[in-house]
Order: sequence, then structure tokens, then C-alpha cells
Amino acid sequence: MEVVDTVDDIRQIVADARLDRKLISLVPTMGALHKGHLSLVDIASDKSDLVIMSIFVNPLQFNVKEDLDNYPRSIEDDKAKAIDSGVDILFTPGVEEIYDLSETGRQVMLVAGDKSDGLCGATRPGHFDGVVTVINKLFNIITPDVAIFGEKDYQQLKVIEQMVEDLHLPVQILSGPLIRDERGLALSSRNLRLTPEEYEKAIEFPWAMQTARKLLAEGIDESDVIIAKIKEILEKNSILVDYMEIRDQETLQPLNQITDSAQLLGAVFIGSIRLIDNIPLRKRGVSLNNG
Ligand code: AMP
Repeated sequence: MEVVDTVDDIRQIVADARLDRKLISLVPTMGALHKGHLSLVDIASDKSDLVIMSIFVNPLQFNVKEDLDNYPRSIEDDKAKAIDSGVDILFTPGVEEIYDLSETGRQVMLVAGDKSDGLCGATRPGHFDGVVTVINKLFNIITPDVAIFGEKDYQQLKVIEQMVEDLHLPVQILSGPLIRDERGLALSSRNLRLTPEEYEKAIEFPWAMQTARKLLAEGIDESDVIIAKIKEILEKNSILVDYMEIRDQETLQPLNQITDSAQLLGAVFIGSIRLIDNIPLRKRGVSLNNG
């Protein structure tokens, strides 16, 4: 595996790969790698000849400075995991390589489309503008044929799909399923910051969301009722809810009633740590392992 940190170097590698008619994939990450990230590398390896992973903690998508400062960073460990998982090229640019820090003027930014409205977009103003801006930059630098994103960040996936469609970007977006730990908690780099007590609390989050399955099995399919029940369980566990909503899987429009294309999306605070999760809901039922 080669590690490069400049735009010039990655462009040269891509140019050489193109001469060899290689299909190029990109797995963008912010590091602190776990099995969720690595599952995307498996998909990338299947779909391409050259797997590039980027590790870049994008300051533009953090609306709370403390969250950016506390974001876990473990580059040596990440390199070992990336090698093991089959990454060919690790792109680890510094902030100055991606953003022009010398200018005092305003830089060009993208504004995310309507799929960024509400959910994480409500509590994290500017977050998705930062995401689409940096992903666009990475696409322009690397020009991947395929880019892979996790369903863990469901709204982000839909926001990026919308960007690719609206801007006619020549890249195929693929998604990988949400990967959980053995107790059901969605893997996240932020889980590293949970104390053992906070972790015990955090695992109530996915199980509370799974209540939707029980209610659906009982024939209850009104979003309000399902959400009220989930919130009640979370509150009983002293978990602060940021949002809990049922939306259409593709349009992300709110749904009053479960359809065959519904997604339950939630965010909670465990102490100062914000965790997100989502599961598909079907009239016939919902699977925690299928999210
Ligand atoms: P991040 O480093 O958090 O920006 O995530 C980089 C990519 O990995 C994004 O496409 C995420 O959706 C994906 N990802 C993060 N956690 C998981 C997970 N538990 N399961 C699947 N994909 C994930």
C-alpha cells in the first residue's frame, strides 16, 4: 500500500492507473477506521482495480469546534488496518492541501440540495454543505469511477447521490450496509469516546429503535405512535433525543404512515457524544441486521 498526502502525487498515481486502463474506486473516510469503513473497502475491491481510501477530517463539516478537536485520530493504526483490508492507495492530505488557508477571502463552496433539510441538517447547520464541498473536491482530485459510502450515514448518502445527479458528476455511487458491533450498536469512530457506562447506555439506542418492528407486527403503522414509543423508551433510559423520524427511503420526505419504502432515522446524545442510527421499516417488519 502506498501512502500519499499531496494532490500532485495522487493525481500522478491516478494518471498511471488510467494508462493501465484500471477502474478506480474511492472510499472517503475521516479515519479512526473500524469494520464499518473496511466493509466499504471490500465492495470497492470487488468493483475496481485500484482502491483509494482517503482519510481527511474535514473541518468544514464540523459545526461544533469541540467535536472537531475531539474527533479521534489514529493514523498509524489506520494504516495497518487499511493494508490488511486491501486498500491500494491511502490518501491523507493535510487541511492546507485541500483548502487554501493563505487567502482571507471567501472560497467557493457547494450548497447541498433539499435532502439535507432536517434530520442531521437541522442540528448541524452547514454540515452537509461542508460534506458536499469536500466530497466534490475529492472527486475532482481523484476522478474515481466508483465511490462507496455507508448506509450508517443514511442522509449523507442521499445528499451525495443528489449532488452527483444534480451536478452530472461522472462517478457511480455505491452503498454498503450499516455494520454493528456484537451488541447492536452501529459502529462509529465516535464510539471510541464512550466511557464503559456511556457504552451501556448507548446500546439501548438501537434496541429502542427496534421497537418499531414490534409495533408494526402488532399492526401499528402510524409514525407518530411509533416515534412516541421509541422516545419514551429512550427517555426512560435518560438518553437525550436529538431527532427520531420516519422518512421515505429515497426522497427523505416525512411519512405519516409506514410504507414499503420507509426509513427510521435517529440521533441521540450520550453525554456530549452524538450518535446516529437508522433502520429500514417495512409493513411486513424490520430487521436490525439489515440496516
Ligand atoms: P466517516 O469516517 O465517519 O466519515 O465514515 C466514512 C464512511 O464510512 C462513510 O461513508 C460512512 O457512512 C461509512 N461508515 C461509517 N460507519 C459505518 C458503519 N458502522 N457501517 C457502514 N458504513 C459506515
